Amino acid sequence: MHFISTRGLENGVVSAMAIINGISKDGGLYVPEEFPKVYDSLKKENDLSYEELAFKIINEYFTDIDDKELMEAINEAYNDRFSVEVKNNFLELYHGPTCAFKDAALLFLPQIMKRAKKICNKEGEIVILTATSGDTGKAALEGFKDVDQFKVVVYYPKNGVSPIQERQMSTQKGNNVKVIGINGNFDDAQSAVKQIFGDNDFKEKLSKEGFTLSSANSINIGRLVPQIVYYFYGYFDLVKQGVIKQDEKINVVVPTGNFGNILASYYAKQMGLPIDKFICASNENKVLTDFFKNGVYDKRRELVLTESPSMDILVSSNLERLLFEASGRDSEVINELMNSLSKDGVYEVNDKIKEFLKEFYGEYATTEEVYDAIKEVYEKDNYLMDTHTAVGYVVKNKYQKETNDFKQVLIASTASPFKFPRSICNALKIDVDKIDDFKVLEELSKNTKNEIPNSLATLSQEKVLHDEVWDKLEMREALLSYLGVEK
Ligand SMILES: *Cc1c(COP(=O)(O)O)cnc(C)c1O
Repeated sequence: MHFISTRGLENGVVSAMAIINGISKDGGLYVPEEFPKVYDSLKKENDLSYEELAFKIINEYFTDIDDKELMEAINEAYNDRFSVEVKNNFLELYHGPTCAFKDAALLFLPQIMKRAKKICNKEGEIVILTATSGDTGKAALEGFKDVDQFKVVVYYPKNGVSPIQERQMSTQKGNNVKVIGINGNFDDAQSAVKQIFGDNDFKEKLSKEGFTLSSANSINIGRLVPQIVYYFYGYFDLVKQGVIKQDEKINVVVPTGNFGNILASYYAKQMGLPIDKFICASNENKVLTDFFKNGVYDKRRELVLTESPSMDILVSSNLERLLFEASGRDSEVINELMNSLSKDGVYEVNDKIKEFLKEFYGEYATTEEVYDAIKEVYEKDNYLMDTHTAVGYVVKNKYQKETNDFKQVLIASTASPFKFPRSICNALKIDVDKIDDFKVLEELSKNTKNEIPNSLATLSQEKVLHDEVWDKLEMREALLSYLGVEK
C-alpha cells in the first residue's frame, strides 16, 4: 500500500514515511491509494480480540511494517490500557488512560512512529508538535512520554479547555514533554502549528540541530488508520448482541471537531462495513452543519467557547480528505478549495461534490439541548453521557425526527462524563456553584453512584509541572526556547 497527497505533488509514499512526515511537503494530507475491502473476510472471524482486529485492519495499510513489529506495536499500545465497550447504542471509546477517545489513536501512534523512524533511518530526535483543544494534548503526552528519541510539545488555548483537561496536562510527568499555554484559541494554535510545518527554512534550521518535526494531530495518517478499527469492532459487537443481523446497515453518529473520527468511519465503509448514513454532530460552532446543508464552508465567524471544548473548532482539517474522495480524487479541485479557504476564509464546492455529500447529515446542538439530553437519558436509562456524546445524541434525535430513518445507530461516545463534571452536574441540577472542580468530581460520583476513573481521581493531588504561557504569535520562540536552539 502506498500513500498519496490530496494536493497531488506526492505519490508512492510508504506508510513509515507518511507517518514520520505527518503532513505532505505540498501542504496536503496523505491518503491511501485505495481502500482494501476486508469486511467480508473479517465477518467470518467473529471472535477476534480488539488487538487482533486492529492488526488485521492496520496491516492492510501499513504494509511496509513487518507483521511481527506491527503486532508488538499494537500490543504495547493497547494491552491492559485501552478497551472499547458498546452499551445500548453507544460506542464507548474513552476507556483509556486519559478518558477520551483520543487514546485509541495516540497510544498507538508513538509505537508505530518508533518503528517507522527505524525503517526510514531517521537520525536524531523527532519532535512531536501538537495543538490541542483539550484531549489530543493529554493523550499525546501520555503516549509519547519517555519514548526514547522523541520529544513532545503541546500547545493549548489557555482559556479554552476545561479545568480538568488543563490539570491533566499541567501535571504531566516525563523527561521529554513540554506543555505551553497560548493566549489565543484552538484555531490560532492549530494554524500556527500548520504554518510551522509548512516553513521549510525553519524546519531546515531545526534539522541542522538534529530535530525533525512531526505531528500527532489527526492529520497524521498514523492516527487515522487505528481509528477505523473501533467501527468494525462496534459493528461486530452489535451483531453479537443480537441488536442487528450480519450485513444489516446501520447509521453512525459522531460528535465532530476536526473531522478525524467521522472520517475514520467513512474509511470503514469504503472497506465494506455496512454503514448507510454518517451523522455529523456539531456544537454551536456549526461550520460543518452549514457545510453539509448548503455546500459552503465558511469559517468567517467567531469561535464560541462551549461545554464541549474538544469540538470548539472552525477549521476541520480532515475534511480535506473527504473532499478529495468527493471530487473523484481531483487534486486541482482540492488546491482551489484550500487556497480559497486560507485566502478568503470560505469556499463553495461544485455540484458533483454536493451530490456526494448526501451520504452525510449535519446538525448541531445547543448547550440547553445538551443539558436536557444528559438529564433525560440519565433519568430514563440510568446512563451518563458526557457533553460531547450528548451533542451526538441530540443530533441523532433530530435526524430521526426529520427523516424517519430509524436504522440502528452507533453513537461515538467520546469522553468520560467525569472529564466535564461541572457541566454534567449543571445538567443534572446538582448544585456545585461554590465548590472547586475536583470536589465537583466527587459530587458527581456520589450523586450518580458512578465511580471516578482512576486517573482523574488522583489528579488534584498531583504537582503542577508546566505553567508557561506564550502569545499566539510566539509559538516558534517557545519551541526554540524549549529545544535550546538559538533564534
Ligand atoms: C477530539 C474530540 C472530538 C472530536 O473528534 P474529531 O476527530 O476531532 O472530529 C469529540 N469529542 C471529544 C471528547 C474529543 O476529544
